[in-house]
Amino acid sequence: MAGVSYPYPYEAPVSQNLFTRASLVTPGGVNSPVRAFRAVGGTPRFMVSGTGPYLTDADGREYVDLVCSWGPMILGHSHPAVTEAVMAAVARGTSFGTPGEGEVALAEEIVARIEPVEQVRLVSSGTEATMSAIRLARGFTGRAKVVKFAGCYHGHVDALLAAAGSGLATFALPDTPGVTGAQAGDTIVLPYNDLEAVRAAFAAHPGEIACVITEAAPGNMGVVTPAPGFNQGLADVCRENGALYISDEVMTGFRTSRAGWYGVDGVKPDLMTFGKVMGGGFPAAAFGGRADVMGHLAPAGPVYQAGTLSGNPVATAAGLAQLRLLDEAAYDKVDAVSEQIQGLVTEALTKEGVAHRLQTASNMFSVFFTEDEVRNYDDAKKQESFRFNGFFHSMLAQGVYLPPSAFESWFVSTAHDEQAVERIAAALPAAARAAAEATQESAA
Ligand SMILES: *Cc1c(COP(=O)(O)O)cnc(C)c1O
Repeated sequence: MAGVSYPYPYEAPVSQNLFTRASLVTPGGVNSPVRAFRAVGGTPRFMVSGTGPYLTDADGREYVDLVCSWGPMILGHSHPAVTEAVMAAVARGTSFGTPGEGEVALAEEIVARIEPVEQVRLVSSGTEATMSAIRLARGFTGRAKVVKFAGCYHGHVDALLAAAGSGLATFALPDTPGVTGAQAGDTIVLPYNDLEAVRAAFAAHPGEIACVITEAAPGNMGVVTPAPGFNQGLADVCRENGALYISDEVMTGFRTSRAGWYGVDGVKPDLMTFGKVMGGGFPAAAFGGRADVMGHLAPAGPVYQAGTLSGNPVATAAGLAQLRLLDEAAYDKVDAVSEQIQGLVTEALTKEGVAHRLQTASNMFSVFFTEDEVRNYDDAKKQESFRFNGFFHSMLAQGVYLPPSAFESWFVSTAHDEQAVERIAAALPAAARAAAEATQESAA
């Protein structure tokens, strides 16, 4: 959809110029695909600064940010306490290649918050966390096969890039070149929310499945809430079959509650993965869980895993400062503002007669342009995503920055105050009209 003409009378000359330069030296002009606006068309906005709930682009236009860096900025941008912790850490030196106190404190904070995590290993990205958790599960069980769900995204791990969501949902790539049959051959992809399919897979492959990995509450095909009993069912089936249950909380961790989605549904995984919020806007991520399983990691055990910048002092300082500010009151605030925005979106779309459905996982939510419940990736793909394009560009033109895809969660922060919500409320009626008027052709 590159080259789609703008339905709105606004331009972004500085961003356009930067995008032209970027496209010469970087594939597609971006360092992560969904940033390129391919799904919605138009010029991606190059941001120069962020404060609280606002982002400012290179053309000097301000936006209420409903992406929050895809989740991490749960306290808003440039939170003074996080900035101060980062500055202090930088002044002490930025990387030592030795253990340090900050990483111990961050690990302690994670273990204290999330009961199933007895031990944790810090890494630098969510991708690394899930990749390492899968390796550990295979090393621990001595089995090869991995069960994942269509539409769940676990980072760009070779074995997990089969029917993944996120950017792949956006681009509807069923598969990716560069991942060999051998790398994906041990991956079993099942429909989300289908426990019978999981039982059938275990029956078909007795003693071969190392683990089931799932997003604790999926946000990468849009928000799809786990059906009641689904996560518990996964945990039970894994236990009965000697496999590990891996809950990927890279998105939900420290966001959907103090203890992430575990704090919401209480289902105990064997291993968990984290990222996004725990890095406070820096590259810090983690995987952890049962001490007997984690004990298989080098140097305590035989499963190798390492990282030059793992537990980086600046990243751990940022993450720790952010987590320490995330008390119950902070989550209450994020939940409340999320509900408020959900209500406004529903009201505006209903008024224009646009078929839609809001789905939530605590304060994460997304809008599907369909009336039917979305229980899995196939359901998500049935929505009229062309309506999202008009909606998105109208919001953008009015200073509200949404995720540039109909298959992503929206994120809010403690910094989204009344003024920010008012700006969203003011933008919604015209955006809802644009969604109502959108046709398959206008978006093509
Ligand atoms: C973002 C995400 C990842 C990947 O994290 P990166 O830091 O982008 O590598 C993995 N799993 C889930 C559920 C995510 O949302």
